[in-house]
Amino acid sequence: MNTLSTAAQVQERKNYIDGRFVASTRQFKKMSPVDGSEVAIVHEADRGMVDQAVSAARTALKGPWGRMPLQERVDLLRNIAAGIERRFDDFLAAEVADTGKPVSLASHLDIPRGAANFRVFADIVRTYGTESYLLDTPDGKGAVNYALRKPLGVVGVISPWNLPLLLLTWKLAPALACGNTIVAKPSEETPSTATLLAEVMHDAGVPPGVYNVIHGFGPDSAGEFLTMHPGVDGITFTGETATGSAIMRAVAPTVKPISFELGGKNAGIVFADCDFDAAVAGMANAIFSNCGQVCLAPERVYVERPIFERFVAALKQKAEGYVMGWPGDSKTSMGPLISKLHREKVLSYYELARKEGATVVTGGGVPKFGDARDSGSYVQPTLWTGLPETSRTVKEEIFGPCAHIAPFEKEEEAIAMANDTRYGLASTVWTTHLSRGHRVAQAMEVGISWV
Ligand code: NAD
Repeated sequence: MNTLSTAAQVQERKNYIDGRFVASTRQFKKMSPVDGSEVAIVHEADRGMVDQAVSAARTALKGPWGRMPLQERVDLLRNIAAGIERRFDDFLAAEVADTGKPVSLASHLDIPRGAANFRVFADIVRTYGTESYLLDTPDGKGAVNYALRKPLGVVGVISPWNLPLLLLTWKLAPALACGNTIVAKPSEETPSTATLLAEVMHDAGVPPGVYNVIHGFGPDSAGEFLTMHPGVDGITFTGETATGSAIMRAVAPTVKPISFELGGKNAGIVFADCDFDAAVAGMANAIFSNCGQVCLAPERVYVERPIFERFVAALKQKAEGYVMGWPGDSKTSMGPLISKLHREKVLSYYELARKEGATVVTGGGVPKFGDARDSGSYVQPTLWTGLPETSRTVKEEIFGPCAHIAPFEKEEEAIAMANDTRYGLASTVWTTHLSRGHRVAQAMEVGISWV
């Protein structure tokens, strides 16, 4: 049995400031979501350490990093990608230990994408042009106005736990590619790959102070110290909508630009003319992958009436086919939720759905293993039908392996239900009708819509 989760070695995760690992007297424990064992001791950055990290980032901006020719920066980004790949197994073990996600998922998604993000932005930044505008002037001679792209400065990167390396680097790589310096605050639940990345940065030749890591929590901890810091020029954040709102308030006094990727309560619309098997497989994957802890995952499924019953039955079968094994077992297709705390939240929605009158199609509880996984944070994949659109289960982001399935009669009705949300992240449309696919996708009030 390959558990790849129990913490045979408890790792120490220190802050990384100005090219050095820095210990703190304040520490917290990171527990395994697989079996509740201790995975890491994390050194929480205090206000002074955040100050040091910001000041190191400012100095680096004015130093060699700021003067580095673009081609050298691009080469460094590629070296970082290669460095992650060279230490693939270390990153994989660290990500799996923190999150409990299946090795099969992390090895295909999290770690390769973490490396690829650096290559993608190395390529993109090479082709960034300047913009110029020819303007008429009263004297008739005309003028050329042009815009130059310059680094913003010291950028605070605050990332979540669901795809730790992937989402950290998705923010980090473009910021570095554009010549900024970074103070990164990874989630307290997933401190490890951000810390390993510091070693890769060092080996790749990234100058001290360009990438700093501070560990800790949000309010009254490293996250808030960073957002409120007058020396930080901008914040890029991925996480919950409520946290985004708190960050907006925190940056107001120092008027920082912010870039957000927030929560979702996404809809999938399935028409009777879809490729049925592809739609079932696609929706199952979208709902349950990463134990439903994906911002783009659909927690609301709308199915055209003629295929509703058949679709619910097929999705139920898929849900019941997930294997909640140990992360290292190749048969495992679903891991635990990230923590006991998050499990409490998800289970409270499982309970709420019942109270709101849902029919539980499958799941709705906690699996029993008869081994150490009973001390982990697993929940059953869950499907509901029969809830009114106004119920909280249908309105609020749960962020677990669950979805509510409702029938619809007409295209306009499905569009209206899908759009009746305070979120607007993503949607999916399943149809083989070309113009309907385009029409419905365009009617979705979201950032991204797949057909
Ligand atoms: P979260 O908002 O609780 O935490 C995200 C990060 O913010 C963590 O590093 C946390 O420590 C920090 N933080 C919390 N409070 C803070 C504060 N007051 N000031 C500064 N930093 C603070 O989110 P999470 O639970 O880690 O992640 C799950 C959420 O993220 C879900 O809502 C999910 O939809 C969303 N998400 C969105 C995307 C996207 O691209 N839109 C991607 C992944 C996750």
